[in-house]
Amino acid sequence: VLVTNFNRDGLDQNELETLFHEFGHVLHGVLSQTRYLLHAGTAVRRDFVEAPSQMYEEWARRPESLKLFNETCPSCKPIDLKLVERMDAARRFGQGVKYARQRLFATYDMALASEKPGDPMDVWVAMESKTIVGHVQGSQFPGTFGHIVGGYAAGYYGYMWSEVLALDMLSPFGDNLMNPKVGRRYRDIVLANGGQVAPMQLVKQFLGREPSPEAFFQEITGQRGAARPISAKEHKG
Ligand SMILES: [Zn+2]
Repeated sequence: VLVTNFNRDGLDQNELETLFHEFGHVLHGVLSQTRYLLHAGTAVRRDFVEAPSQMYEEWARRPESLKLFNETCPSCKPIDLKLVERMDAARRFGQGVKYARQRLFATYDMALASEKPGDPMDVWVAMESKTIVGHVQGSQFPGTFGHIVGGYAAGYYGYMWSEVLALDMLSPFGDNLMNPKVGRRYRDIVLANGGQVAPMQLVKQFLGREPSPEAFFQEITGQRGAARPISAKEHKG
């Protein structure tokens, strides 16, 4: 079950991506075929659990999947491909700031899990001061960092690491996310196995090669997007 508080009059792009993300977790659960219930669905290693969901966000951004909306709603205005491209360009704008911040959060989370972490606020001020934007006096990020007490302690890096794998796992789809053969393989190998096989083994089996951070680097440098889909060929080796 997915309980959401979306706008009933229509979703904006952010809400649509969130819906696809959370639905990615749902698919991980409902398509499970594990021997034991304990291993089913999202009962995978914590630093892999966001991979299927972050991967599925891509379906909210690509023309081949977005245009399916017209099949369920023929009277709706067709999706304008130019708009999809512009949306993607807007998403890629300032990516460096976002990923630098994510890296800082992950490093801070790790620092807190070290043997003698020290005062959490002092640690944060010292770390943030070293960044290009510095620390703004009076701001207290640690108090809002719910992940460190919500099950992601020493695991916040998992979001970015999952994204590395998620983007890599998109490469076999090439420029067609709706490819039924690749989709079926993904379902049978990655989703169906839940946590009964180590994530790295599943990823390798699905990709047919060692995982590569190349797609992630293209993403954070703004070279990957709907306007220029990554092809499977570029990812050999
Ligand atoms: Zn998630």
